Amino acid sequence: NELPADPVTTNVVRQVEGALFTPVQPTPPDGVPYTISYSAQVARLLGLDPSECERPEFALVMSGAAPLPGARPYAACYGGHQFGQWAGQLGDGRAITLGEVVNPATGGRWELQLKGAGKTPYSRRADGRAVLRSSLREFVASEAMAALGVPTTRALSLVGTGDKVLRDMFYNGNAKLEQGAVVCRVAPSFVRFGTFQLPVSRGAGEVGLVQMAADWVVKYHMPHLAAEPNPYLGLLREACSRTGRLVAQWQALGFVHGVLNTDNMSILGLTIDYGPYGFLDVFDPDWTPNLTDASGRRYSYRNQPEAGQFNVVMLGNALLAADLVGREEATAALMGYSEVLSDTYNALMAAKLGLKEYDRALAQELMKLMYTDDADFTNTFRALCDVGSASADSEEQQQQLLLPPRLAAALNRGQPLSEERAAAWRQWLQAYQARLRADGTPDAQRQAAQRLACPKFIPRQHLLQWAIEAAEALMEVLERPYDEQPEAPAKYSAPPPPDMEGRPGVCMLSCSS
Ligand code: AMP
Ligand code: MG
Ligand code: MG
Repeated sequence: NELPADPVTTNVVRQVEGALFTPVQPTPPDGVPYTISYSAQVARLLGLDPSECERPEFALVMSGAAPLPGARPYAACYGGHQFGQWAGQLGDGRAITLGEVVNPATGGRWELQLKGAGKTPYSRRADGRAVLRSSLREFVASEAMAALGVPTTRALSLVGTGDKVLRDMFYNGNAKLEQGAVVCRVAPSFVRFGTFQLPVSRGAGEVGLVQMAADWVVKYHMPHLAAEPNPYLGLLREACSRTGRLVAQWQALGFVHGVLNTDNMSILGLTIDYGPYGFLDVFDPDWTPNLTDASGRRYSYRNQPEAGQFNVVMLGNALLAADLVGREEATAALMGYSEVLSDTYNALMAAKLGLKEYDRALAQELMKLMYTDDADFTNTFRALCDVGSASADSEEQQQQLLLPPRLAAALNRGQPLSEERAAAWRQWLQAYQARLRADGTPDAQRQAAQRLACPKFIPRQHLLQWAIEAAEALMEVLERPYDEQPEAPAKYSAPPPPDMEGRPGVCMLSCSS
């Protein structure tokens, strides 16, 4: 980044014109920062020995309390369409990039960004802070998505700031003081669709910034495009296909982002900005985890492909308006979005069913059954991995309309199905088994591959909530260590239970910690 040698740092909230970013400094928290968790995997990506994350200085740097030596932090300037409406300048209102590190061993280039480390020029009316609840959700989801094989921004650390942050809980009007936290997000780049849109919206004087941003993305993140006749067209094509692939992966896993505004769309096709996201439990295509979208459901599970389509068109419009691509070629590039999306989705659904090819009729019939019988999305697919291809149903099973127990448990919220509904499922299963037999892949081989497309464990809303409540409860007790706190559960003052005592990593940490 070409930052000025002596940046004039000002975090004053304002319209920032003629710039793609603003030098800023994190605001140190008033409290004493403490590391709650870190990802050893991400540390290694950066070329950082994970034990470094256990040093007290780590919490200081990753909360913004102490500067990262050599860093020249900045907040990015971008705009966006929010729920279909152009919203003007948004920008990193509570994210501050510390800089980039290049892993000397791999050459990998990683941007480090603190989310919740104070105000920036883009904070508008908000406080620039993040609470433990949402930071923990982002930290966990980033790493879970990476493990699920979905392109995503990563998270190096989750650090409590020791500060209290005021939030309206669940929009019920009850303001609540919550624990502040900062996530250190890590990605090759956090450039968004909105990065290209904002300068265009400001007229001819700023279109040069669109080209600068595009040149930068191509140079550092898509260098293979540099040799193309028009690298900007290549960039659009690449963004479309990456986004199509990403949305297909979300659909296949039942992931709902919740806020698919163009400012939350990564030019690199990464899942970015984990806010009110969620995974489907019971299969309901109209479900959205975002309370503010509950009536419109613009960003429901069902509508994500269309939201992605709208967003790539907005990106195409920006590059077109900046004269970096022609209308016809841009239109052709945009077609790539839905092509890649449906190809990827079909391939993933075939894999989830353990089939060599996507069988639309079979898959859609399954979806109908799942919807009608409140099937748990994840567990239904995982249960299908157990189904054998042989139609070995005994007379008795056929009469009693038994379903494989694991499948039965995934349906109707675990309650037994009516005979009629069980019959509908058995009928589908028979068609499914016939299809498996036609494919002819040996069961064991098919099932092993199928399980790689059907996770057993996903970060469900209630699992995250348990983790949040456990973390919040612990932190609350530790805040007043000298008080008796008779209401505090006994476990918080009890010695460790035998199964925890002396366990490496729990009670015996390395000397660097
Ligand atoms: P989102 O849709 O959550 O990604 O946020 C939209 C915009 O609001 C972005 O520009 C964010 O940086 C900004 N924003 C959200 N929360 C805060 C906050 N607590 N303080 C400052 N800016 C925020
Ligand atoms: Mg955002
Ligand atoms: Mg956000």
